[in-house]
Amino acid sequence: MATSLLFRDDAYLKSASARVIAVHERGIELDRTIFYPQGGGQMGDSGALLRANGERIGIIDTRKADTSKGEGLDSVLHISVPGAPAPEVGETLALEIDWPRRHALMRLHTALHVMSCVVVAPVTGGNISPDKARLDFDIDISLLNGERIERETNALIARGVPTETVWISDAELDARPELIKTMSVQPPRGAGRVRLLRIPDIDLQPCGGTHVRNIGEIGAIRVLRIRSEGKRNKRVEIALVG
Ligand SMILES: [Zn+2]
Repeated sequence: MATSLLFRDDAYLKSASARVIAVHERGIELDRTIFYPQGGGQMGDSGALLRANGERIGIIDTRKADTSKGEGLDSVLHISVPGAPAPEVGETLALEIDWPRRHALMRLHTALHVMSCVVVAPVTGGNISPDKARLDFDIDISLLNGERIERETNALIARGVPTETVWISDAELDARPELIKTMSVQPPRGAGRVRLLRIPDIDLQPCGGTHVRNIGEIGAIRVLRIRSEGKRNKRVEIALVG
């Protein structure tokens, strides 16, 4: 049974309730979740699952299930703290994500969308953790100027425009390959449609991650460093300012 991904429609859900579908060796499968499973360069969420008897099951990571390990198709695994109590199948749990951590991930993730419009080059990789994020570009490193990237990215963020999620069909995406900037991450397809993040007049690209409602919520970024990670990977690492 596929886990219903509540964060896809509302990335600001901090709590919800869900039913236990299965308890696997690797983690707990629920019928629905607000926990983002690691993917598209964004780290998985942490938080807790609360039982009706008050017991707390700490969640240290969230991953997509792997059917080759007997886990459910299109489901999400909530990985508990070693030694935590295991819930019963069918039990209803209250879900709570570590919101300050997730919000930092959302701000940094959205900042990478904005930065990808300042550095015009194919994206060959990326990663978002709560304290910093990076994109790798296939570009001559001499063209990467940290001070310019910082200034232009922050100028776009200062426009304070709302972000929008839009869906297009697989066929529409196939007809517009220019929308795919990231060569290392496959667009989030499913049921014949693809999810896109649109930042009006700034960016439009397929993405299944979690984003802030308005880019103004990012605040500002600073470039931590720029370095070569190989012939086609010139890495720009950023952090939030405040
Ligand atoms: Zn995204």
